[in-house]
Amino acid sequence: MKIVFATHNPNKVKEIQDLVPNHIQVKSLSDMNYLDEIIEDGETIEANAKIKAEAVSKLFDLPCFADDTGLEVAALGGKPGVKSARYAGDDKNDGANIKKLLEQLKAKKNRSAQFKTVIIYKNGDTVKEFTGVCEGKILEQPIGNSGFGYDPVFQPKAHTQSFAEMTAEEKNKISHRGIAFQKLIKFLRS
Ligand code: IMP
Repeated sequence: MKIVFATHNPNKVKEIQDLVPNHIQVKSLSDMNYLDEIIEDGETIEANAKIKAEAVSKLFDLPCFADDTGLEVAALGGKPGVKSARYAGDDKNDGANIKKLLEQLKAKKNRSAQFKTVIIYKNGDTVKEFTGVCEGKILEQPIGNSGFGYDPVFQPKAHTQSFAEMTAEEKNKISHRGIAFQKLIKFLRS
């Protein structure tokens, strides 16, 4: 059985391929010879995941799923949220995004934040939604060199390290994406 993951990122595909039963082959958009980007112009994380899943299910007559993630900061009313990748501009620069976030939080006492990942699975008329949340706080300054995005300034609850100080394995066990993927995998196995 083939399933299409609405991404061009081979690392994301490998991560999930390693966790699903052998009879399921996870294919990226590039594996399917689809090289364009799907425009993500939804107002919420859920809407963007839905847009991608619906676009891909129209392209291929196969089950598919899409994921979308955002960082929701309490003192900023949930921002950057759906705009996390482009918070400081369209060039999706991680360093500039972190700088802007720390500036916006300078005068704020409440540094609570959470990452949220939404996965939408679609197979014909069957649509399933899986959510993973990781609560934590935004640090005063970046710490650690691993990971990507906001990892150096995000410290998950009940942990003393930032995501960027953890190994990929440690992070995946507790992360928003890890939790959402585990829910999808449980469903695919059932
Ligand atoms: P995407 O939906 O997976 O492309 O994530 C959107 C944006 O959220 C990324 O460009 C990052 O800025 C941020 N982001 C998503 N997941 C993570 C994470 O695990 N750590 C840090 N930043 C993340």
